[in-house]
Amino acid sequence: MEKAETPLQQVQANIAKACTIARREVEEVTLVAVSKMHHAEAIEPLLRQGQRHFGENRVQEAQGKWPALREAHPAVQLHLIGQLQSNKAEDAVALFDAIHSLDRPSLVKALAKAMDKLGRRIPCFVQVDVGEEPQKGGCPVAELPALLEQARAADIPLAGLMCIPPFEIEPAPFFAFLDKLARDHGLADESWGRSMGMSGDYQTAIKLGATHVRVGTALFGERPAKP
Ligand SMILES: *Cc1c(COP(=O)(O)O)cnc(C)c1O
Repeated sequence: MEKAETPLQQVQANIAKACTIARREVEEVTLVAVSKMHHAEAIEPLLRQGQRHFGENRVQEAQGKWPALREAHPAVQLHLIGQLQSNKAEDAVALFDAIHSLDRPSLVKALAKAMDKLGRRIPCFVQVDVGEEPQKGGCPVAELPALLEQARAADIPLAGLMCIPPFEIEPAPFFAFLDKLARDHGLADESWGRSMGMSGDYQTAIKLGATHVRVGTALFGERPAKP
């Protein structure tokens, strides 16, 4: 009899399969389990299974639930994947281990100031607006070189690029585009990340170079409705 697989095991198997097809090492891909809107009771089973990287999209929500979970699981790495207001930069730097949504000069300034003040420098992905959908955040493609330069000048550790392609359109061209942008900006270096791919398309993203996939629904089921 086959042992029933957990959602985490299924996603891990899919990641391994995509890596094999793409001739990539499975270690090159970090699974960020997106736990936004889910309570600690839903997160704990994943922690017990060894999942260490988690993604949240709101600073305040993460402040409410992660300090306690972290006490029991100190190796947890928290990723901020949602839009960040400059006035929350200090809270974000204090709590998170990586930020995936650096997208404008004012946020470069706010994050640099927060990192200086807290003496803590955390890696940041620059989010690129690949689908020309400003409401999702992200730096316009034309402004990316200048933003990267500002971030480097401010001593912000750059982890790579991130994108959220338009929904309901084939995402592959957008993933390929982000991968190309990462190469074009002198960051073909393997250590430079590409944060792309969600529940519906992470295997495609891995085949196109993703180093960080942000998967929520496939691990946790549907998110609870907003209160
Ligand atoms: C919610 C969210 C995800 C996860 O989406 P799923 O479709 O549930 O996997 C990934 N990235 C970002 C930026 C998100 O806000």
